[in-house]
Amino acid sequence: MTRVFNFGAGPAMLPTAVMERAQQEFLDYQGMGASVIEISHRSKEFDAIINRADALLKELAEIPDNYKILYVHGGAQMQFSAIPMNLIQRLPGRKVSFVLTGNWAEKASKEAAKYGHPENVASSKDSNYDRIPAFDVADLDPESSYLHIVSNNTLFGTRWQEFPETGDTPLVADMTSEFLSRSLDISQFGIIFAGLQKNLGPAGLALVLIREDLLDHALAETPGLLHYKTYAEQHSLANTNNTFAIYMMSLVLQWLQDQGGVPAMETLNRRKAQILYDAIDNSDFYSGTAHPEHRSLMNVTFTLAAEDLLGRFVQEAEDNGLYALKGHRVVGGARASIYNAMPVAGCEALAQFMAEFERSRG
Ligand SMILES: *Cc1c(COP(=O)(O)O)cnc(C)c1O
Repeated sequence: MTRVFNFGAGPAMLPTAVMERAQQEFLDYQGMGASVIEISHRSKEFDAIINRADALLKELAEIPDNYKILYVHGGAQMQFSAIPMNLIQRLPGRKVSFVLTGNWAEKASKEAAKYGHPENVASSKDSNYDRIPAFDVADLDPESSYLHIVSNNTLFGTRWQEFPETGDTPLVADMTSEFLSRSLDISQFGIIFAGLQKNLGPAGLALVLIREDLLDHALAETPGLLHYKTYAEQHSLANTNNTFAIYMMSLVLQWLQDQGGVPAMETLNRRKAQILYDAIDNSDFYSGTAHPEHRSLMNVTFTLAAEDLLGRFVQEAEDNGLYALKGHRVVGGARASIYNAMPVAGCEALAQFMAEFERSRG
């Protein structure tokens, strides 16, 4: 068996140690003679799994006591509906502010328009989202129920280096493509959410961290299974949740703790990203698409001097065990997604391949 270095944006590679452990205990979970996917979500064994996931998250992300941890069906985009349904009438005008930094912010803004009145307070659309736009919190409408941002922009390869202090306006952050890759002060945020499939586990589920005072503002028509209060009161088990995804996430979290936690991972992530940005900046053949001050540590986006070589670049990379480097069509070029599970060796192998490709074709 040969495993590739998988640079796909999501679902993305998971740590090999996690996959091996899941494989080992797949048929017989802790001597039960049954698989973890065959046992009740109300069993004491699953209870231990979900409690362990909570405890690891609390420790790794340093989650304060006045936040609830929820596991919500439907992935990240379901939150584009759930958040306005739960929060838009916190203040009577049903206003909500967005900073547009890419297509995920655009989509969330469009969805919020079904429930209230989104206003885009800043945008970098004019430069094809190559940066995080300048944004002054003084411009924030005090009647806004919340401000929605996307902390790391998966397609465009940008990230917020620092987060705005929004005072009484809850800050809601889509951290799908970077949660647990960098240290955060959770108390700056009202809600943080992340689909699992980039940095945390399998697709289909979102992790939601929510400050307790925001749990009870939902519109009357909010479906029971999108109502945050229901999740908080029933420990995300109002119905049969995706037990396998929660189990896989608990293994990923355990692995992350074994690596030294978020600060150690952040140091490694900086090193990994630097290897690739150096490869880009030290060449006349590759160009980064994101403004250098706004570059992501998770998604490295670049173009080739001859765009017609892109197909060959991607194919030859694959032939060399470097998988899924094609960029998103709205940006063009190539993209290397290097989430927590990507080892340093993967970035080194890619940098070396890039240099060789440039030499032979450039
Ligand atoms: C991948 C991604 C999404 C979409 O996730 P789904 O689980 O497919 O809905 C949303 N936001 C960001 C920032 C993403 O990277």
